[in-house]
Amino acid sequence: MSRALIDTHCHLALLEERGLLQRALEGADAAGLEAIVTIGVNLEDSERNCRIAETHPRVWFSVGWDPQQPRPPDEAELRELATLLRHPRAVAVGEVGLDLFFRAGYHETPLDVQRRSLMRMLELAVSEEKPVLIHDREAHDEIIDALTAVSGVRGVMHCFTGDASHAARCVALGFVISFSGIVTFPRADAIQDAARGVAGDMYVVETDAPFLAPVPHRGTVNLPERVADTVSALARLRRVADDAVRSDTTNTARRILALQHAVADSRS
Ligand SMILES: [Zn+2]
Repeated sequence: MSRALIDTHCHLALLEERGLLQRALEGADAAGLEAIVTIGVNLEDSERNCRIAETHPRVWFSVGWDPQQPRPPDEAELRELATLLRHPRAVAVGEVGLDLFFRAGYHETPLDVQRRSLMRMLELAVSEEKPVLIHDREAHDEIIDALTAVSGVRGVMHCFTGDASHAARCVALGFVISFSGIVTFPRADAIQDAARGVAGDMYVVETDAPFLAPVPHRGTVNLPERVADTVSALARLRRVADDAVRSDTTNTARRILALQHAVADSRS
């Protein structure tokens, strides 16, 4: 089995809270993951993920301010986010984005607040020359508008939930498509269609662990090792061998997150 396999998006700080960090890292190692990117949702969470990345050679982290945050980062917080981004193990700004799935107990942050947070974080990414990891829940058009408004942004459409034509719009903007366990769910026809059509050098895989466990693990706490199940589902959809999807997604993740250099360093 090739070692080429990268979970481009999971939340190790949340797995740590559940007492599952060691289990997650051991499982990832046994499953042959070359790298894991652990995602921050605000300043404090990004700092926690930074500490995890500092102590585990295959782990990298991102610096985020997600759309559920009740207000945009202020000037002092933006400076701290920028400082954290210059850490040698920081690879991206994210997650950031827009979330129009309003439910009590999930989040109720108004769209205009989300937009101001997103714009500040997109500008931070451009000024720090980092890719962005975009959270888009039921906000496809609004996300395209925001990304079009800031020149020089590039990155990953995390946990892609659009159809093939939306995937093509994102790719045209310079974004790669990240498929999660959702692609294994029944009734995910539109996402599966997007997975068949996207170019080999424009997609990656992720777990979003502890969320979104793929079939056949639905309803359990998700773990980075399960990125292999999403790879297998993509291989079936694209009618290629698992190894072809492993090499497509690993090469793309290394390129877009500038991990190649980093991975080589951590091995030497
Ligand atoms: Zn996430």
